[in-house]
Amino acid sequence: MKIVRTVADVALLVSRTKISGKKVAFIPTMGAIHEGHLSLIALAIKQADLVVSSIFVNPLQFTSSADFELYPRSEDADAKALAKAGVDILFLPTVDEIYPDGKFSVTHTAGKIGSVFEGAARPGHFDGMLTVVSRLFDIVQPDFAVFGAKDAQQLFLIRQMLAAQNPLGIRDPIELLEAPTVRDSRGLALSSRNKRLSKHQLPVALTLPTALDEACLAAERGGGASSAYFSASSVFTATPEAKLEYLALVNPASFEPIEEGFSGQALMIVAATVGEVRLIDNRLITF
Ligand code: AMP
Repeated sequence: MKIVRTVADVALLVSRTKISGKKVAFIPTMGAIHEGHLSLIALAIKQADLVVSSIFVNPLQFTSSADFELYPRSEDADAKALAKAGVDILFLPTVDEIYPDGKFSVTHTAGKIGSVFEGAARPGHFDGMLTVVSRLFDIVQPDFAVFGAKDAQQLFLIRQMLAAQNPLGIRDPIELLEAPTVRDSRGLALSSRNKRLSKHQLPVALTLPTALDEACLAAERGGGASSAYFSASSVFTATPEAKLEYLALVNPASFEPIEEGFSGQALMIVAATVGEVRLIDNRLITF
């Protein structure tokens, strides 16, 4: 695996590969690599000839500078894990490399869906996320980009941004690949934040996947949106140590809440705090 730190170096290596007709997949991350990230790499390897990943903790998408400073950084261990997983090029840029000449400001806005759910909890987060993803796409120019279903709203907004940038489908599109959420043996979605959960808090964190399971079961029994919602919310009522922030059923195509009587696949999304740790999860439910 080659480690490169400049825009010029990564762009040169990628363009050499693309000239020979080979396909490039890109997996942007913020580091603190775990099995969830590695599943994205595995998916990329199946699709592309060259796999490029990046680690960049993007200051623009943090709501507080303290949060940005506290984000876990483990460059050496991350590089080892990514090399072992089969990444060909690891891009490790500095903030100046990504935002040169003082261009440290938002260039993309996430719109209406950017300010609800995760966006309501973290104002400006999605604008900063889209700004860096767009900048990284411009630099790497991948054929495929792989993101986790775990961050469903992020994926929705990236898909929306790409569609808006290429309305007629004239330019070569970047194909978004969605990787299923990787969970631990008890069902908890892997996240770099899980390390901050104490032994006592880990079972409490299972409230999120358990609530999603209950909603699925309610739908399988023929219940509608409100029955699924009630089944999930009851799990939180029974576990007050998991502080529910939002629980909603949205249409995956629009991220707008679904109505009772909806038929098809809806996405149940949830955010809750356990101690100091804020967790999110989601699941597709068929009505
Ligand atoms: P992050 O480093 O948190 O920005 O995440 C980088 C990518 O990994 C994003 O596309 C996430 O959606 C994805 N990801 C994070 N956790 C998981 C997980 N448990 N399963 C699958 N993908 C994940």
